[in-house]
Amino acid sequence: PYVLTERGVLRYEQVTYPMEERGLQFGDGVYEVVRLYNGTYIWLEEHLDRLYRSAAAIRLSVPFAPEELAARLEELRRLNDVHEDAILYLQVTRGSFPRAHAFPAENRPNLYAYIEPMARKRNEMTRGVRVIVTKDVRWEYCYIKSLNLLPNVLAKQEAVERGAFEAILHRDGIVTEGSSSNIFLVKAGTVYTHPATERILNGIVRTKVKQFCGELGIPFMEEAFSVHDLAQADELFLTSTTSSIIPIIQVDDTTIGSGQPGAVTQSLQAAYQTATQPAARN
Ligand code: PMP
Repeated sequence: PYVLTERGVLRYEQVTYPMEERGLQFGDGVYEVVRLYNGTYIWLEEHLDRLYRSAAAIRLSVPFAPEELAARLEELRRLNDVHEDAILYLQVTRGSFPRAHAFPAENRPNLYAYIEPMARKRNEMTRGVRVIVTKDVRWEYCYIKSLNLLPNVLAKQEAVERGAFEAILHRDGIVTEGSSSNIFLVKAGTVYTHPATERILNGIVRTKVKQFCGELGIPFMEEAFSVHDLAQADELFLTSTTSSIIPIIQVDDTTIGSGQPGAVTQSLQAAYQTATQPAARN
């Protein structure tokens, strides 16, 4: 396989990192995950936009200009001959330098990007999933897609150990988002989700759900809800690049609505499917 780096496309074996790499030692970097359906990037421009915004927020420069990066990613896809469902992982770090917290004197960021096959989560999308609720212990700048994912890792592990698909995070009883997803509540036909403040990552699929609601005439409110509201919801669902739109049918031990994926969730899933056609065919 091939990997895109700041030096251009290299073979997988050629990509190595020194111990003193700022991504490894400080989590000093940002990343993106992009979906491919049948070998086609989905919403690449939106993801690259967010990458440059995340980088700017930590005063990090991305090695390529946006158009050039998009062209290199297409080259990467072509060289790897990707025609199936896959994900692109891309990260940029502040580079390899002798360990010191403050920025290095030189601007020499590292970048790597690779593509891995990833099947759609069809069972979860159709049947729905169970989630748990846990405390959001992250820092105040969750709008930056940074490499510092320790709180997210611990929350997801707690979910896995409790037999759940995802952990819903709350700050003082207010639901922010999932450990790696955005969370939506449906009540009396209206879709609610946490506003896109510094306390959540504004998911690309989240912005698409907002757009679909507009197109479908579904009222959409960027208004936070509490952990207590979850049990009273008609429907709950989560979104992310790797999950698309997945119904939540149980929170801890509480069944949501009928215990089946709801009508609003299903119409948004259909809109997602349409929007990602023809790439997402099958
Ligand atoms: N919030 C967090 C904390 C995430 O890690 C993710 C997944 N990247 C999301 C939300 C969903 O974002 P997206 O729809 O862009 O994948």
